[in-house]
Amino acid sequence: MKDSYQKRKEREAAAISHSNHIRRHENAEQCYSRFLFDTLRTAVLYLDQWGRIRSANAMAKQLFQNDDLAGKTALEILGYWDNPIHVHQEVLSVARTGQSVIGLVEKVVIDGQERWFQTDKIAVENAGHGFSGIVFTLDDITSLKQHQLSLVKSEASYRAFVENSKDAIWRLDLTSSISIDLPVEDIANHINQTAVIGDSNNIFSRLYASCDCSRFNGRYLETLPFRDAVININTLINNGFQLHDEPMIYETNNGEHRYFKVSVQSIIEQGQLISIWGVTTDITERKRYVERLEYQSTHDILTGLPNRTLLQRTVNQKMEALAEGKKLVFMIIDLDSFKDVNDTLGHDVGDRIIQEIGPRIAHTLKDTPSFLARLGGDEFAILLTDVSDESQVESISRSLLHCIRQYFYISKLEVEIRASIGVVIYPDQANDFSTLLRYADVAMYCAKHDMSGVAYYDSEKDPHSPKRLSLMSELGKAIRGNDLTLYFQPKICLGDKRMVGVEALARWIHPTMGFISPSEFVPLAEMTDLINDMTYWVLNESLRQLSEWRKRSLNLSVAVNISARNLSQNDFCLMVKELLERHNVPATCLELEITESTIMKNMEKTLQVLKELNDMGIDLSIDDFGTGYSSLAYLKRLPVKRLKIDYSFVINMLESEQDQIIVNSTINMAHNLGLLVVAEGVESQEVMKCLGDMQCEQAQGFYIAKPMPSEDLEQWLFQYQLDNAS
Ligand code: C2E
Ligand code: CA
Ligand code: CA
Repeated sequence: MKDSYQKRKEREAAAISHSNHIRRHENAEQCYSRFLFDTLRTAVLYLDQWGRIRSANAMAKQLFQNDDLAGKTALEILGYWDNPIHVHQEVLSVARTGQSVIGLVEKVVIDGQERWFQTDKIAVENAGHGFSGIVFTLDDITSLKQHQLSLVKSEASYRAFVENSKDAIWRLDLTSSISIDLPVEDIANHINQTAVIGDSNNIFSRLYASCDCSRFNGRYLETLPFRDAVININTLINNGFQLHDEPMIYETNNGEHRYFKVSVQSIIEQGQLISIWGVTTDITERKRYVERLEYQSTHDILTGLPNRTLLQRTVNQKMEALAEGKKLVFMIIDLDSFKDVNDTLGHDVGDRIIQEIGPRIAHTLKDTPSFLARLGGDEFAILLTDVSDESQVESISRSLLHCIRQYFYISKLEVEIRASIGVVIYPDQANDFSTLLRYADVAMYCAKHDMSGVAYYDSEKDPHSPKRLSLMSELGKAIRGNDLTLYFQPKICLGDKRMVGVEALARWIHPTMGFISPSEFVPLAEMTDLINDMTYWVLNESLRQLSEWRKRSLNLSVAVNISARNLSQNDFCLMVKELLERHNVPATCLELEITESTIMKNMEKTLQVLKELNDMGIDLSIDDFGTGYSSLAYLKRLPVKRLKIDYSFVINMLESEQDQIIVNSTINMAHNLGLLVVAEGVESQEVMKCLGDMQCEQAQGFYIAKPMPSEDLEQWLFQYQLDNAS
């Protein structure tokens, strides 16, 4: 509504010409007043006591677009006004009371556009003559008003933004500004002392004083108990007076921890810090959700124990942080025959046992810095994180086995479980998680195989150590390529010194490594199905040799060593039968030696196979007797004919009274069960005599003969018979 410069000039020119026109009738002073009156940018009306216009200035005429306003009332000319009657009454009231009405703001809509006027209705007194009229002025303040309105609007939208925000929005004003070039400590002190909460929204109150929603505006930051959870002033200063998603932990009155992140922007003018704007977001729920997800992905559902992922992370961290000279001990614990528990008692019972293992282990290790995880199934892993003395490990392992062996009372059942532990040492034996895991697994299987409960990793027993892997593949080739040899070791009857049979013992002469002991390659073969091929080869070769000797009227029996895995082979009996038929050898000439531990491994299945073999007419012997845990009870159930006392008791029986007692009582016990006894490891005539005195039936050993190739046996036998005839 501002007049353009042009319009103003025109108006001024008109006013001047008009004043010229009336100059003739008025004096110069009046003329000048008129001039001023007309050039005013305010519309001015002069009204009489009836509210009728006496005169109007140029601006008024322009405003009301009427050159002839004289005699009209406000009622007539203020048609656009919100309430012209009211204005008219007001004019009359001013006339009546002589009380001016100043500074009213009134709204008009002209041509659909809002316009605002500030009006004065001033009672004019004629000096000494009382009321003479009313000066009614109208100032167009539309642009000012619009500006004000837009300010109000922007303030409103700012407030709406602040109040509706999901985050806490706040502003700290410093009661006096401070130079940002001062030392950090000075600025921090200044902020601490002078910062006042200049503005903060509802959420701010809710975040920091959950139940008390009163505002903190106007309060000194220093006086707020939660000030340290609003902003870390030192971090702010060190970070160039701004923060981006700075984490913050706030402990509520009831001790709950809430997690915030704070972003801050400071207002700095001419190097002076004035105020600090901040947005605080409560990320507690989000953090808890993420934590829940994290927990689920790193813990086992059944037991709540850490899983393999978390184990790996922990092991890696501990390896990295390990002090010079310190060691980590990694163990795998695997429950023995757990499959049987699941199969016979049901998976619910199995699950309950698995759930109870964790607390038992945790209790056992309560004073040992350690980390326990479930690897899956019936396998657990333990990391001992502070081992200074390796000898501790043995006793810790034994206590772990002991704690697992205690009865589990589940659904009125008493269940006894055993376990095997494989141990590997970092950094001595393995350097990374996957190697630790694999080596502990290998050791654990050795513990199971040897029924020793605990075994340390030994690369010699690792079927997958590079050396052994290549040896294993070469052994496979040697078996298939007929490169193994069989040696035969005679067995004699102690009574009449007659040779009664031979034991077939495998030999492997490696093209580059030379002689490899069966004590080395047989366990290797036993780790995989290679042992089946090997046993097949030994049986075939032994029976072939036997049939040749028989053709030359050498009536012998041959004993072949059988491994645990052979007996779980489905068609083992059938294979033996076919080989006997192929070589036309009666079953009674074949003896099979089965070690104690083999039988113990899978009692039921073994018993069934042994019965079948026995029914075929084959003699069965228990090998290495005394090294396992055989009980009389199970010996009675076995269809075996002989016991072979392990050579370790026999070799030193004259020097060791204890060995002698063991040998003697074993012989007596075997006789009570109706079994024959063979002593192996006979290295001297004295031992042989002593065994004879103890009524031992047969003997085998270096004193009689070392294992030898088949072609030497006939020569040896000839010589032996000669020697014993004399
Ligand atoms: P084993 O079945 O106990 O065999 C007897 C072992 O004692 C043989 O060792 C034999 O050479 C040794 N020996 C015999 N008399 C004496 C003696 O007076 N003093 C001493 N110190 N040792 C004596 P070898 O041939 O080294 O065999 C070691 C083991 O390898 C065997 O122990 C057996 O467990 C296994 N083995 C050998 N050949 C075969 C086979 O064809 N199949 C299977 N499954 N295992 C075999
Ligand atoms: Ca044997
Ligand atoms: Ca033996």
